[in-house]
Amino acid sequence: MLSLVDVHTYYGNIQALKGVSLEVKEGEIITLIGANGAGKTTTLMSISGIVPPRTGEIRFLEQPITRINPNKIVSMGISQVPEGRRIFPYLTVLENLDMGAFLRNDAEGIKSDLDYVFNLFPILAERRNQAGGTLSGGEQQMLAISRALMARPRLLLLDEPSLGLAPLVVKRIFEIIKKINRENKTTIFLVEQNANLALKVAHRGYVMENGEITLADSADHLLANEAVKKAYLGI
Ligand code: ATP
Repeated sequence: MLSLVDVHTYYGNIQALKGVSLEVKEGEIITLIGANGAGKTTTLMSISGIVPPRTGEIRFLEQPITRINPNKIVSMGISQVPEGRRIFPYLTVLENLDMGAFLRNDAEGIKSDLDYVFNLFPILAERRNQAGGTLSGGEQQMLAISRALMARPRLLLLDEPSLGLAPLVVKRIFEIIKKINRENKTTIFLVEQNANLALKVAHRGYVMENGEITLADSADHLLANEAVKKAYLGI
């Protein structure tokens, strides 16, 4: 479904990605794990077109998307849930969700997707007329995921969904991520610092260090890998 081939991405003179190649197959949950500053967010930003690569190629559903506008990439079927949620704090829950459907004009489909996200996260239905900024951190993460789903993506990019949330809330959100993958047939690319959690829900994983992929394997193998255990699982 998605492939990155030898992607190099820069912020000015700073090289953040140094030849990243990876693949995501339709229906998978893939996780990218690594330390702070390894380049995980930049990988997502390169895919979504917000920080386009300088060289290399990104293909989605057989088409090159390497230097295409982010809004076009959303309309092709890729939505990103950014690190730190980035919901619109002064808009209501419903208005935030409407923003997610900004590029669509199929009123019936939008209505059924709204029902779908309210079914996933009933608390959002209860709070539909409340300003996004008044929600708890966990609810804001639910809103950010739901807003991305309102674009009806085929590939959902999730950046650190567990960041700053209490363990019980994280557990709930990860259950929903699995459910979205299973029931809605949405392919998921999950960036996480909580490697243990991420590898437990993912089918396959990649490990990133200093802008390079250093390991690629099934999630089970990575969980059992001694180097991964030592560096990322605290075992
Ligand atoms: P984190 O878990 O902290 O978000 P990460 O693995 O997602 O880390 P990135 O945010 O992709 O890492 O950062 C990769 C490298 O690019 C780091 O060296 C970082 O300092 C640098 N970087 C990231 N954003 C910018 C920016 N806007 N301007 C300059 N350098 C940046």
